[in-house]
Amino acid sequence: MSADPAPSLPTPSVPFADLGLPEPLLRALSDVGYESPSPIQAATIPPLLQGRDVLGQAQTGTGKTAAFGIPMVERVDPKDKRCQVLVLVPTRELAEQVAGEINEIGQYKGVHAVAVYGGASFTPQIKAFQEGTPIVVGTPGRVMDHMRRRNLHLDAVKMFCLDEADRMLDMGFIRDIRKVLDLLPPQRQNLLFSATFSDEIRRLASGLL
Ligand code: AMP
Repeated sequence: MSADPAPSLPTPSVPFADLGLPEPLLRALSDVGYESPSPIQAATIPPLLQGRDVLGQAQTGTGKTAAFGIPMVERVDPKDKRCQVLVLVPTRELAEQVAGEINEIGQYKGVHAVAVYGGASFTPQIKAFQEGTPIVVGTPGRVMDHMRRRNLHLDAVKMFCLDEADRMLDMGFIRDIRKVLDLLPPQRQNLLFSATFSDEIRRLASGLL
């Protein structure tokens, strides 16, 4: 991951320390070269830390991954090995990228994320669940497969995030998303990130948030 802010990441002057983040997170952010939050991070991190639902409009390149990754790592209990956070993404590449960034942010708190997606062997994904990964980042089809086979239990999920929701709907994932939603505990924090907001996204968001 690059330590240089992308050109679309104008950084407001508030440092991360002013958002009330604990030392292990601040140290990890400093390691990856993030000094101050991007606008989407400054807007979403405080309400997410308070446990509120968030609807974010953000393109790739704005720092949206850390906008939800930082509060996720902060809200997870590293001693509880069950899945506490579920992130649905449209592609395997995004699953790898999001899990990788969360793993960097969580390195000093001992919080791990696993990426699960179709076309890859089930075995290492199952092994990761058995070892305990509080954050699961996956494509809807493979997450459904793991749930059906009882490899993955979602009854301890307290945060749920749909990332790149517009791309997921374009790729026809709406039915799988709704099935996963039906199996999540009703008491949870919800996040939805999308680059664009069609009527379909607004309907999905209003049912979710
Ligand atoms: P994303 O929009 O999540 O794909 O992030 C775009 C790029 O910005 C990634 O390479 C991140 O590592 C980087 N990035 C995210 N947040 C910050 C920040 N606060 N300061 C500098 N770089 C960042």
